[in-house]
Amino acid sequence: MGRAGAHGGPALGRVMPQAAQVRGADIRAFLLAFREKLAAQEAHLTALDAAIGDADHGSGMLRGANAVVAALPADGSPGALLKSAAMSFISKTGGASGPLYGTALLRAAAALPDQPQVTRPELQSALHAAYAGLVERGKAAPGDKTMLDAWKPALDALDAGKTWREAAGAAAQGAEATLPLVARKGRASYLGERSVGHLDPGAASSALLWAALADTLSGPLGEGPGPA
Ligand code: ADP
Ligand code: MG
Repeated sequence: MGRAGAHGGPALGRVMPQAAQVRGADIRAFLLAFREKLAAQEAHLTALDAAIGDADHGSGMLRGANAVVAALPADGSPGALLKSAAMSFISKTGGASGPLYGTALLRAAAALPDQPQVTRPELQSALHAAYAGLVERGKAAPGDKTMLDAWKPALDALDAGKTWREAAGAAAQGAEATLPLVARKGRASYLGERSVGHLDPGAASSALLWAALADTLSGPLGEGPGPA
């Protein structure tokens, strides 16, 4: 903590950002970590969705993530693993969030070079592509009380040179900040003003995705040799 990214420190002997590789095994670890977090938070996510939706977000996301893990190829490029995960979310999660997470991961997969290793900046670009896919598919904007309210601050943090851990913190804060918002998209929007005072479930699960990314890529953005 405390350092703001690639240009903030003495940087003696630092590996160049481009040298920090993300391998298929890292993406696999990220997807497994996301599943673990969804399993641990299933009841919480469902309770959030019970308040302003139909009480299926925790179970739907966990069903999707279990399918992701079951179908994941033993090895493969980061892009291939993300594409496999996307198809599992699309076919097994259902609701609004299945197609949204599926689109996000599919766009990320397509944006990555078809290589066994990619760089952290390439992964960061792929996450921007994922976000663009969420916006295109869901037609929501930040502030509409959706998963975008976790994704946008996380991407902004990375763009500002913050670490993956700080980006995950920004996602969590973004999810918390949905509390006073009026839902303008998705099922919660049917409640109008009555959605105020509740956290958005999709923003909460998105914060878990970013936490899983941070757990996997735990070094500061663009520094170090990448996860061991
Ligand atoms: P459903 O509402 O169909 O039951 P889920 O409960 O699985 O689907 O997911 C609900 C979450 O999906 C919401 O909390 C919100 O974050 C997200 N969501 C819904 N509609 C949109 C949209 N148009 N754009 C972005 N995110 C959305
Ligand atoms: Mg729901």
